[in-house]
Amino acid sequence: EAYAEMRRIADLTDRFPLAGSAGHAARDVCRINDMAGIGPVRVDPDVITMLELSRKHNARTRGAFDVTIGPVMDLWGFGGKHPHVPGDEELKSSLAMVGDAHMHLNRKDRTVYLDKPGMRLDLGAVAKGYATEKAIQVLKRNGIEKAIIDAGGTIRVIGTHARGVPWRIGIKKPGSTEDILAVLSLQDSAAATSAGYYRYFDSGRRRFHHILNPGTGYPAMENESVTVVAGDAGLADVLSTALFVLKPEEALEIVNKLTGVEAVLV
Ligand code: ADP
Ligand code: MG
Repeated sequence: EAYAEMRRIADLTDRFPLAGSAGHAARDVCRINDMAGIGPVRVDPDVITMLELSRKHNARTRGAFDVTIGPVMDLWGFGGKHPHVPGDEELKSSLAMVGDAHMHLNRKDRTVYLDKPGMRLDLGAVAKGYATEKAIQVLKRNGIEKAIIDAGGTIRVIGTHARGVPWRIGIKKPGSTEDILAVLSLQDSAAATSAGYYRYFDSGRRRFHHILNPGTGYPAMENESVTVVAGDAGLADVLSTALFVLKPEEALEIVNKLTGVEAVLV
């Protein structure tokens, strides 16, 4: 049941099935993107909730977190087999299609409208954590008291480890394969890490990863990794990506204002 719930959220948000295929038509994010500049699309309430969470963090980070980053992600080719460094002109035209203000949410009608043709949502920073949280809710409803879900970079636990001690989660040391930088003790909470070492390609002598600064269109270079601990996996996942884009002092300012949220910045 928990897996099915995760699958459902993945299906709503996956934006890469081929246009025209049966899967494509079923996916809310695909339909929203196809209708950009044309009209609003009625979606699952969970999609509205994810977009509201995203919008909140767009405001919180003054635009550094932006799920309308899709056109720029695609230009770099991060979803495909041949990522490459884009040219200045094409980067400029892709950036012109990014902006939270051009995303219109209507909770009452459950609709989403992107008002510029070519706009595209990318929920890559949100969906995994949100799906993890929904799956944990399924487990709780079924009376499960101790559990861990590792969605890859996003981990959520309920209860304690079997012997009554908190779950121990290692934070990977950037740049090394085995070493652990610190160990978190988690109980009824989530930890999410965003880092440049998950998905990247090398070009010339430089390395380019998949978390972009919407101000420049280039990978954000302020941090090597950001781990966020919070009560909710959806929040932890969004915040880890959002804080990764910011300067460490700006990131800490946000963390320190939030209760129940802690972070490790490298
Ligand atoms: P991962 O998906 O590797 O676990 P993250 O949770 O940090 O890592 O999410 C990275 C994804 O977030 C990217 O693949 C992309 O889909 C999306 N993304 C990249 N830059 C931004 C940004 N500035 N704002 C919002 N989402 C972004
Ligand atoms: Mg994230």
